[in-house]
Amino acid sequence: MALVVQKFGGSSVADAASIQRVARRVVETKEAGNDVVVVVSAMGDTTDELLDLAGQITEDAPAREMDILLTAGERISMALLAMAIHEQGARARSYTGQQAGLRTDTRYGKASIVGVVPERIVRAIKDGQVAIVAGFQGVNEHNDVTTLGRGGSDTTAVALAAALDADVCEIYTDVDGLFTADPRIVPNARRVQRITYEETLELAAHGAKILHLRAVEFARRYNVPLHVRSSFSNKQGTWVADAPVGDQEEEAMEDPIISGVAHDRSQGKITVVGVPDVPGTAAHLFEVVAAAEANIDMIVQNVSSQATGLTDISFTLPEADGPATLKAIEGARDRLQYDELRYDDQIGKLSLVGAGMRTHPGVSAKLFGALSAAGINIEMISTSEIRISVVTRAQDLDAAVRAVHTAFDLDAEETEAVVYGGTGR
Ligand code: ASP
Ligand code: MG
Repeated sequence: MALVVQKFGGSSVADAASIQRVARRVVETKEAGNDVVVVVSAMGDTTDELLDLAGQITEDAPAREMDILLTAGERISMALLAMAIHEQGARARSYTGQQAGLRTDTRYGKASIVGVVPERIVRAIKDGQVAIVAGFQGVNEHNDVTTLGRGGSDTTAVALAAALDADVCEIYTDVDGLFTADPRIVPNARRVQRITYEETLELAAHGAKILHLRAVEFARRYNVPLHVRSSFSNKQGTWVADAPVGDQEEEAMEDPIISGVAHDRSQGKITVVGVPDVPGTAAHLFEVVAAAEANIDMIVQNVSSQATGLTDISFTLPEADGPATLKAIEGARDRLQYDELRYDDQIGKLSLVGAGMRTHPGVSAKLFGALSAAGINIEMISTSEIRISVVTRAQDLDAAVRAVHTAFDLDAEETEAVVYGGTGR
């Protein structure tokens, strides 16, 4: 007997029939002798629709009200799933994030979990109930509801799994696990059998829309094994864990130097042209950027021109942070003394991730070779111990992903990926 946390994404609970299908899976897991805690997302596109509705009323919704609105989506799913489980003869109770003891800080719209006190969930389990928890939400110190940011139900599930010391946290989505690249770009991408937390973090942080970043951080910190799989099939998915879990046997691993290629089209690039190449320039610039709360990623500073003593500094950041950051830099022009400020939102970022990079030389040479053979220009490069990222033109990104996937022998013989629901969530 195990304690299993199952999280179902929006595509898995998109309509009444889907909710009944999910209920069957939950009841089967329970009848197999497990304790089951379920975390649900909002049905289908509900969250987007609620955002859209709010947008029709106001462009400047109070953050507190927006969070109350958005948490409604997950509450609908949890109640309907509890009813469906009852219909199938098992016992279930649904709980809001607040009732389930998910405590957060006060940052509406992007709250962080500061503690989990799942007393009611523990009691429900002892009582033989399936406990269903609304994902993506918690309560702050003022007793107001908060949301954890888009995709946050994954984090609810993992945080609960950690607090309950669950044996596994199953993340159900509409694809059969994690793939070596997005199957919509690389149709013959392979399913990854097992991947470390560290590699998953790098992939999630660099555009792979697989798991909420903070969910992976939680999983790593508390060593919660994740099983990412489809709710539309019974296939084994991808295990996110640092070692094989239970009696699971590894299939023969061929060449696990690279675990995947992520891509990200949501970044922009700011270039500050002609700043004095003297100590303190970068410090000033990035103080301004930090004050604008931009999450910067890559930074490149050119060699300065001997004649003028000036240099250019470029950096990438989420497009959403672009306008406010540009404004902040413009506001500091007197102090920064630059000639020109440029913004480019037509960039794409490709990231190659693999723990094997640590011990295998030549990975960057092969990556750059593949891109050059495909005629793709590289604009910026950054690396970590287990990742190499390059910035290209946005329009070259798909071709770049395919070229790199092939160059590293990641292509499967036949198509493995099936997208069942269509949203990849
Ligand atoms: N419903 C929320 C969203 O669409 C949370 C989630 O699905 O994880 O972002
Ligand atoms: Mg999701």
